[in-house]
Amino acid sequence: MVKAKRVYFFGKDRGEGDASMKELLGGKGANLAEMARLAIPVPPGFTISTEVCTYFYGHGRTYPEGLAADVDQALREIEKGMGQRFGDPENPLLLSIRSGSRSSMPGMMETVLNVGLSSSTLPGLVKKTKNERFVYDAYRRLVMMYSDVVMEKAAGIEPAEGRGIRHQLDQMLSEVKKAKGYKSDADLDAADLRDLVARFKTRVREVLGKDFPDDPREQLWGGIGAVFASWNGKRAVSYRRIEGIPDDWGTAVNVQAMVFGNMGDTSATGVAFTRNPATGENLFYGEWLPNAQGEDVVAGIRTPNPLNEATKGEHNRHLPSLESTMPTTYRELDLIRVKLEKHFTDMLDIEFTIQEGRLWMLQCRVGKRTGTATLNIAMDMLAEKLIDEKTAVKRLSPAQLDELLHPIVDPKAEAGVQRLAGGLPAGPGGAAGQIVFTASDAVAWAKEKKHVLLVREETNPEDVEGMRAADGILTARGGMTSHAALVARGWGKCCIVGCSALHVDARAKTLKVGDRTFVEGDYLTLNGTKGYVYAGELPMISSTENPRFMQFMAIVDKYRKLGVRTNADTPEDAAQARKFGAEGIGLFRTEHMFYGKNSEKPLFALRKMIISKTEAERRKALDELFPYVKKDVKDTMAAMDGLPVTFRLLDPPLHEFVPHQAEERAKLASSLGISADEFEKRAEALHETNPMMGHRGVRLGITYPEVSEMQVRAIFEAAVELTREGKKALPEIMIPVVGIKAELDHQRALVDRVYAEVCGRMSVKEIPFLYGTMIEIPRACLVADQIAETAEFFSFGTNDLTQMGFGFSRDDIGGFVPDYIEKKILAADPFQTLDQEGIGQLVTMAIQKGRAARPKLKLGICGEHGGDPASVHFCHRAGLNYVSCSPYRVPIARLAAAQAALAG
Ligand code: PEP
Ligand code: MG
Repeated sequence: MVKAKRVYFFGKDRGEGDASMKELLGGKGANLAEMARLAIPVPPGFTISTEVCTYFYGHGRTYPEGLAADVDQALREIEKGMGQRFGDPENPLLLSIRSGSRSSMPGMMETVLNVGLSSSTLPGLVKKTKNERFVYDAYRRLVMMYSDVVMEKAAGIEPAEGRGIRHQLDQMLSEVKKAKGYKSDADLDAADLRDLVARFKTRVREVLGKDFPDDPREQLWGGIGAVFASWNGKRAVSYRRIEGIPDDWGTAVNVQAMVFGNMGDTSATGVAFTRNPATGENLFYGEWLPNAQGEDVVAGIRTPNPLNEATKGEHNRHLPSLESTMPTTYRELDLIRVKLEKHFTDMLDIEFTIQEGRLWMLQCRVGKRTGTATLNIAMDMLAEKLIDEKTAVKRLSPAQLDELLHPIVDPKAEAGVQRLAGGLPAGPGGAAGQIVFTASDAVAWAKEKKHVLLVREETNPEDVEGMRAADGILTARGGMTSHAALVARGWGKCCIVGCSALHVDARAKTLKVGDRTFVEGDYLTLNGTKGYVYAGELPMISSTENPRFMQFMAIVDKYRKLGVRTNADTPEDAAQARKFGAEGIGLFRTEHMFYGKNSEKPLFALRKMIISKTEAERRKALDELFPYVKKDVKDTMAAMDGLPVTFRLLDPPLHEFVPHQAEERAKLASSLGISADEFEKRAEALHETNPMMGHRGVRLGITYPEVSEMQVRAIFEAAVELTREGKKALPEIMIPVVGIKAELDHQRALVDRVYAEVCGRMSVKEIPFLYGTMIEIPRACLVADQIAETAEFFSFGTNDLTQMGFGFSRDDIGGFVPDYIEKKILAADPFQTLDQEGIGQLVTMAIQKGRAARPKLKLGICGEHGGDPASVHFCHRAGLNYVSCSPYRVPIARLAAAQAALAG
């Protein structure tokens, strides 16, 4: 249902809406109203609510009754505020029409400016401004934008590549400039423009079969409809899909009095961030152009000037700052910056226009920023007492933290090479890869798992999919605030723009820099933090040694309730995870010592054990294996230095460990003293139809108790030896794939036997340890109360629990889960994000039953979900004691846990 109020006015010191009304008014409209309320100069205007957009799509692209009257009334208010009238021949008001959704979608929807210029209003405006050139320039911009946005795009016309009306008109403009020997648009005089507009109109009629509308009201409604229609434009739909923005939010439409930054040398336009969006540095950071309209800055057509002296860089030192060119206006703008930051307590992205010396604010919104900037701004604002600790913790999203953990170009390697070129550091971090010249190539190459850098002449929002797929983005033109730079930064992509030494030829797929030529597939390296480009592929390193990051994480830890452990199987991984703040190991997968580095000898012993037939053979192989297992167990506990380490007993798919190569097979056979034939028979016998549900986990320990015994002995002996060496050891023995209490009891008896034997042999009274199980089989959840009688802890193995709960084979989901997601049968891959409504019930049931039987039962999770932010929120609510995840996700889990606790 559309509510009665659909149109919200804002103007001098008054706004019918406010910043809290983003759902209804979109971000832009809500904040324009808020700025008006703060007595910040905003050109008067009104916002048509997102509910009208919903109505529009629900009713065959029509408007609710009475909307026209509401618009008229609000228009009258604008007229009053500006002392002008829309459509008036003497003193005409001109309007801008812009989109504005709840969450910002930079450059993804449409805008029409200068609405209201027509044959009846043009002469009056010329007379009033005494500037015919300006008026006709505004008119040619209107014709270009309107024919493109309203008459072509909104009408659903899809022209062939390069045949769009805007492109055609642009070409006509270029031809005039070329014919007359002009260098820039500014060289066109009034007569040129008048003539050009007349020809534009003819071309519009020829191409689109309709006249450009000469009635200001028709233009107004055409513009409103086109903005609503652009919500379902191609770019907007792609962007929403990538960003996860729901299709039903809709956009608002903002209609506002035009102010002009192109009325001569005392006029200007610019965009700025209240702090540096790439680094977070507390300096007013932005770009401006004299005698220009807003689109000139953001479209990346002209390389803009720096806002002030303090933020000038190597690339723009020679250009004039607003601070030096218009000092009074700059000071006024700087005061507004302070006022806005104080009010919104965040870094903002603003747009402004200066019309004949008078400053107008056109937009403010919370600024998109990199992970690094988010961290630095949150910590600075905390120190400035603008925000409190809890707010600081909430500011950084886990995804941004992930970005902080991403690599940078190795400074040592960088110091040794010559820079190829320099540009604006639009998105920090490093990226090395093969260059491609089109968005579609970037997508295709990335699909083939290649690292690609998308190289473009200028940034263009049409390229979103390619930008997403690329590891890094490099452009020859554009500024820090160009749309593509904003988008890349929001995604945490390494990005360099405005790199003017590049000559990009997208057709020939070549890039020239000085006398060097690079072709598609050649390697480049980008340092997006500094804006440096290098030829070739330089190495990357981790960026986590940042002290700011450590301080932030210390605050994070104050607020979380969940413990965070890691899944690590080697002393190296354990050490890395401790650096990231892991408080223990939640899953040590014993079988992983048989893969990778130094695994040859233990793997050989394991294979012998697998192929053994008799207990005697097996015991011999196990004796050979023992020292390797003990060493790994001991070194890992030593690396964790007294923090708990959960050792999961062997859970290997046995057949995977049988060698395939004839040579390996022969070696094994001879070491076991058996014939090749016998070997083949035994290997064949290991084959299982459904190994995921076969002879694995505890089943192995039941059929071959000596396998469990060897591991348990290694754990106890390692613990005793460490204690003797003055170190602490806290092992937890975990039994996998348990579904029946008796399985756990069986293994417990074995553990007790080995415990007594080791204590006796090593002359110790006690070895502290815990005995518990994984909960990863649905049956285990159903009988968790029984299992908890024996288990001192549960660790949810949500990988297998998801596999067996859904009946989806972990190894085979590639064939159908992507389709499930595409067809919206599942919202997410349940192996990445825990299925809270289904598998989550199994978890909560096991928790309730387990704790009922053993109130002090320790509960954790060690499936992949332990490092997924949404799943961590679930674990917090479910009351687990800890989550366990891979080392690089430990900081992410810590942050997600704190945010879950702060969410209440
Ligand atoms: C699990 O099943 O969730 C688990 C952690 O064990 P694995 O992935 O080794 O089967
Ligand atoms: Mg498992």
